[in-house]
Amino acid sequence: MNANIYKIFNSVQGEGIYAGTRQVFVRFCGCQLRCEYCDTREARHTADECRIADRRIENPLDTDVVISAIDDLWTPSTRHISLTGGEPLLHRDFIRELVRSTSKPTYLETNAGLPKYARIVADLIDIVSCDIKLPEHRSTGDYDRLLHAELETIEIFHSRDVETFVKIVVLQETTEESIKSAVCGIKSIDNSIPLILQPVTPIKVDLQQLLDLMDFAGEYLSEVRMIPQIHRMIGMP
Ligand code: SF4
Repeated sequence: MNANIYKIFNSVQGEGIYAGTRQVFVRFCGCQLRCEYCDTREARHTADECRIADRRIENPLDTDVVISAIDDLWTPSTRHISLTGGEPLLHRDFIRELVRSTSKPTYLETNAGLPKYARIVADLIDIVSCDIKLPEHRSTGDYDRLLHAELETIEIFHSRDVETFVKIVVLQETTEESIKSAVCGIKSIDNSIPLILQPVTPIKVDLQQLLDLMDFAGEYLSEVRMIPQIHRMIGMP
């Protein structure tokens, strides 16, 4: 099976509860959303070539090539394969084949907007970071439908005992009102699912605004953290 992949590389996870952990990232091409703050625009479209360290390999890549690249890039402190994008679930069948071909732990970073595809991989994933988008992200023309899909995806992973956490990117326009539906939706699944509030990079969000949003979410959820993107601070990809 083949997939269009933008880049495979070893770096430090910069987001969420595993921030600081070394991972091999498989950055898939393609995304069904168009978030205003997107920092991986180059991976939203198909690429003629995939970059692996200093090599460029013609797309699409088959699973054997990707497994071999992961093995080559693995180091003693590396902990997970990060399946990222773009939106990796657009490549759900490839991911199934890839994960079945390795014993390495898998970490999925998804926008959570494709629950039908989440069902296809959920039994194979160890850790999942699910985004919930906000209206001010302007990711889609039908926000309510996207939020419903994201909550369904979170429920799918959580109910199958995948270690699940949720990430929300906070913009200057973000308010208690704009995160309320997301926070209540997470609570309706399980109020112990961790929520990470991530200020957009470069950080323009006021610290008091972040603290107030944390307290607001903390009224509903037992585990709320504020974690900025650390890989961008240290100049890692
Ligand atoms: S879901 Fe992710 S890759 Fe897709 S547009 Fe939004 S930020 Fe970019």
